[in-house]
Amino acid sequence: MGTCYYPVDMDMKSGSYTISRRTTGGKLETAQIIVTETPCRQEDLKNFPKKEFVDVSAVNQARAAKEAAVIGPLIGYKPSVRPAVFDLPVGKPVKNLPKGEGNFGACRTLDGQPRDRHTGQDYPVSVGEPVLSVGNGRVVLAASHFYSGNAVYIDHGNGLISEYFHLKGFSVKADQTVTKGQRIGVVGETGRVTGPHLHLGVRWHGACINPGFLLVDPSDLPEVK
Ligand SMILES: [Zn+2]
Repeated sequence: MGTCYYPVDMDMKSGSYTISRRTTGGKLETAQIIVTETPCRQEDLKNFPKKEFVDVSAVNQARAAKEAAVIGPLIGYKPSVRPAVFDLPVGKPVKNLPKGEGNFGACRTLDGQPRDRHTGQDYPVSVGEPVLSVGNGRVVLAASHFYSGNAVYIDHGNGLISEYFHLKGFSVKADQTVTKGQRIGVVGETGRVTGPHLHLGVRWHGACINPGFLLVDPSDLPEVK
C-alpha cells in the first residue's frame, strides 16, 4: 500500500489512460486513470493597472519570447531525471500560508483580451513576507522576467520543479543548493500583477499541476477507486 502520484497536466485531454510503474523488484504494474474536464474558472481582469501588460509593445513581446525560450527546457518533460531530494507533503512557501485564491488553471482575460491559462496558485501574502523553498533542491533559475517579475525556479529531483513569481527580490542564484524551508526571497508585486501576492507553480514530469495537491498530507487526498 502507499500513495502513488501521477501528475495530470491541466491541459491533458479527457479520456482513459493506462499508466504503469515498475516496482523495486522490477515488476511492471499498470493502472487505468480517467481524466475528465472541469470547466476552467473565468477571471476577467478589468482596468488592469500596469498598462504595459495590456497592450504589450514589440520590445516587450520580444523580451517575453526570449524568456519563454529559456524557461521551456527548464520546466518541460525530461526523459532522464535526477533522483528525488524532496519529501511529501512539500513545505509551505510562506510561514503562515493563507488559503489560495483558487485560481489554478483559470482562463483569463485582461481588459477583454484573452490570455493564457493561469499556471499556478496565487496566495494573498503581503510585500516583504519571506518566501521559502518547498523542498530540498537546486535553484535552476533566479531572474527578473517580464511576466513573472522576479522569479525563482527550483529543481527538486524526480522531475519536480517549483516556481515562485512576482517577488520583490530573491536571495539565491542558479546552481545554488537549497533546503526545505530555506528563505529564497520576499513577496512582492513585480511583473504582471494587480497587487502583491505569491504565485506558486509546480511542474512535475513536465505536467503543470495544482501545487495544492503536494501541500496536503497524502491521507487527506480523496480516495481513488
Ligand atoms: Zn499567479
